[in-house]
Amino acid sequence: MSPRLILDFSFDEVVQELRELGQPNYRARQVWEWIWRHLAQDFFAMTNLPLPLREELGQRFLISTLEVLVRECDEEGTEKVLFALPDGASVEAVLIREEGRRTVCISTQVGCPVGCTFCATGQMGFVRNLSAGEIAAQVLHFARALRDVGEHVTHVVVMGMGEPFLNYEDTLKALLNLNDPRGFNLGARRITVSTIGVVPAMLRFAQEGRQFNLAVSLHAPDDRLRKKLVPLADRWPIKQIISAVDAYILATGRRVTFEYVLLGGVNDQLRHARALASLLRGRLVHVNLIPFNPAPGLPFQPPDAGQVELFRQELLAHGIDVTVRRSRGVKIQAGCGQLRSRVFQARNALPGLEVCEKNHSQDKQGFP
Ligand code: SAH
Ligand code: SF4
Repeated sequence: MSPRLILDFSFDEVVQELRELGQPNYRARQVWEWIWRHLAQDFFAMTNLPLPLREELGQRFLISTLEVLVRECDEEGTEKVLFALPDGASVEAVLIREEGRRTVCISTQVGCPVGCTFCATGQMGFVRNLSAGEIAAQVLHFARALRDVGEHVTHVVVMGMGEPFLNYEDTLKALLNLNDPRGFNLGARRITVSTIGVVPAMLRFAQEGRQFNLAVSLHAPDDRLRKKLVPLADRWPIKQIISAVDAYILATGRRVTFEYVLLGGVNDQLRHARALASLLRGRLVHVNLIPFNPAPGLPFQPPDAGQVELFRQELLAHGIDVTVRRSRGVKIQAGCGQLRSRVFQARNALPGLEVCEKNHSQDKQGFP
């Protein structure tokens, strides 16, 4: 049997695996701590386990299968990695450094079946789902790199490649493992899942009894316009998405974020802002405006800076909380799926391309 990825297992499953090897429960706890708390990369490092057990575990399991293919940084310390998977697939993850925050943005699928017309990932088609371990391993990669400079991951956002709610089980398992206080111990309120609006999964997420943040990618205030941007809009109309958001707020008490990519001349007019405001008014929500990040082959223009401001003001005037996402990583094309597309257009840049020069840990003051 080929070795299995131990990050794919929940704590209870690790207990079960170790029991099958004749080991008591406390051994499972030790292994769990080595992997999720001490971020061990191989079983031989687990020095409080007997050597024969370490050898046995090393034959049966792998700790990570991700290999860094390309790594790029910009001057603000945003760091993007393209990981290779054993089957030849590749996915992106990004570390965003902000004052007091170290946020990792992770992928849940190779490509995406939704096919949004403004999204580089959507345009590359769908290859496969990532497993729970492949999803969590992206976070652990950056956690190790940060630990080396005395820092840690403070937030995780599931906003990379793929639609997490079309890979619900594995995404949830990865997040529960990252949240587990016996190991990685990242609070649920520091974890955000972004969905294009897969209504049944949103309703299920509401019932998980957790405090995860939910972000919903709306992008248009009416179904007619939304269908032009999001092919899946046919399946779950905006009305159903809003009801699912209401259910999430009711079940969790959490404020929900609506993401809205502003596409120049398409969905960025004041009438769109007004329609959006009347859709959301009175709800515990917040709008995050994301100026379109252009990439080759995407048939849209970024909005005018002035128009972004007018749109924001209009929402505010109608009592809607709104922020504009700062365009981080535009230079290194840190938008969803963009590094991968670029790399595959210029394969001669591979392998092991590394474009990170500066040490970005100078802003440690105020770091929690
Ligand atoms: N599939 C999920 C999560 C991944 S996409 C979702 O769609 O919500 C994460 C965010 O990046 C979404 O809000 C998406 O609309 C946005 N995005 C995708 N392509 C973009 C682009 N070219 N410019 C700006 N934002 C983009
Ligand atoms: Fe998929 Fe999200 Fe991109 Fe749409 S925006 S294609 S749902 S990754």
